[in-house]
Amino acid sequence: MKIADGVYVLPIPRGQQPENYLNLTLILDGENGNTLVDAGLPGQAEVIGAALADAGIGVEDLGRIVFTHQDLDHIGSGAALVRQSGARVLACSDDAPYIDGNLRPLKLSPEMLEKRPQMRQVLERLEPVRVDELLEDGAHLDLAGGTTVVFTPGHTPGHVSLYLERPKVLVAGDALTSEEGYLNGPNQSMTLDMPTAIQSIKKLAELEVDTIVCYHGGVVSEDATGQLRRVLREASYDADA
Ligand SMILES: [Zn+2]
Repeated sequence: MKIADGVYVLPIPRGQQPENYLNLTLILDGENGNTLVDAGLPGQAEVIGAALADAGIGVEDLGRIVFTHQDLDHIGSGAALVRQSGARVLACSDDAPYIDGNLRPLKLSPEMLEKRPQMRQVLERLEPVRVDELLEDGAHLDLAGGTTVVFTPGHTPGHVSLYLERPKVLVAGDALTSEEGYLNGPNQSMTLDMPTAIQSIKKLAELEVDTIVCYHGGVVSEDATGQLRRVLREASYDADA
C-alpha cells in the first residue's frame, strides 16, 4: 500500500492468525538506498521478500533496515534479510544490545516466558542482528527527503519513531497502535514503562502529521494530528485517575 511518494506500508500476516498483520514500512530512495523499517517475526523473510516485490524491489535492493525497537516481531527476520541484501542496520543505542545478542530481549525474560510459554519456540528461532549505526534522538536521516529520529521510549527503553518531514508521515512502531483507522495508545500489557510511554506520546503530539503508521493496526490517515492529541488526552487522564 502506497501512502506517499516512495513510501509504502507492507502488511505481513502474523503467522497463523488471519486478520492480524504486522505493518512494515518501506521507503524507496534510488539515491540514498531503500530502507525497510522493522522486519517481522523469525522465518518471515520470504513473505517480506514477496511484499517488497509487490512494491517493485528485491530483498537485495535493500540498503538499510531500521529497527524501531528490540521486540522479536520487529527484528525477527532481520538477520536473514541482511544476509540476502548486505543492508546496514540502524537502531537506538538503548535497544541495540538486545538486538545484537549481547543481552536477551527484555520481553523474553524468564518471567515473561512464564506468562507466554508459546514464545519459547520463537525465542529458539530468534537470530541476533548486528547493529551498524546507533540512532540518537533528533538525528537526521536522508530518507524520503528528510527524516527525523524521535526517541520514544516506554514500550522498550530504546524505542524510536521516524518522522518523514516532507510527506508528514509518522512511523510510530509500537509507541501507538490503531484499529481500522482509529488511533490508540500503546498496548499496555506489552509496554514496559507506561508513564514514559505517555511522555513519548506527548512528544509525538507536537508533530504535524498527515499519516501515522502503527506496526500493529496499520495506517491512520483521517485527522491524524487530532487523533494523536486525543490519544494523549486519554492517556494523561488514565494516568491521573
Ligand atoms: Zn510489536
